[in-house]
Amino acid sequence: NDTRKLAKYLAGLGYGSRKEMEVAIRRGRVTGWGEEVRFDGEPLDPAPGMVLMLHKPAGYTCSHQDQGRLVYDLLPPRFLKRDPKISSIGRLDADTTGLILFTDDGALLHRLISPKSDIPKTYEATLARPLEGHEAALFSSGTLVLRGEDKPCLPATLEVTGERIARLTLTEGRYHQVRRMFAAAGNHVETLHRASFGSLVLGDLTEGEWRLLTPEERARLG
Ligand code: URA
Repeated sequence: NDTRKLAKYLAGLGYGSRKEMEVAIRRGRVTGWGEEVRFDGEPLDPAPGMVLMLHKPAGYTCSHQDQGRLVYDLLPPRFLKRDPKISSIGRLDADTTGLILFTDDGALLHRLISPKSDIPKTYEATLARPLEGHEAALFSSGTLVLRGEDKPCLPATLEVTGERIARLTLTEGRYHQVRRMFAAAGNHVETLHRASFGSLVLGDLTEGEWRLLTPEERARLG
């Protein structure tokens, strides 16, 4: 009975079918019962409710479709076989680099991508043309209406850090929002990088690397 319970738990973490897990347990591949359980000698993947961050490289799509390079290709395949499986918390464009979160926690996912969520996200943009000086006021005005929409964007903070470089902090996440905001200001985004999500930053993570959030970081997400 304990074997069946553990097999069910391991199957839920994506290690294999329940049958396969019962066989694995009988063959001694699962050790450390009652303490820290290991599978083939390795610590088990996190329990349900996991959140991880990935430093997304350019050229990877945030979707579950099976065409082209996907952000999920950069994570252990087991994470997609979990029940529930992991999903990205929102999306970044294929060309955008930077911080993207993933979770298997549906309630957390919906809370964080809800239009009611007001978590600040900071983006670093390089632009095709020099900034003209009017952009910060336009973005913070709360009156900027994007093409094809009727609700104005919420006030956003622009910090100009170079002739063609700026950091934009948004508390919403409409489709292609940063690119469309700069387009509305008469410019064009050439590269886009998300540097932070709330209080979370990439730190030492290099492109293509991922890590689990620490319990403290997880708690800060709410
Ligand atoms: N805004 C964009 O235009 N693209 C992204 O990937 C994220 C925000």
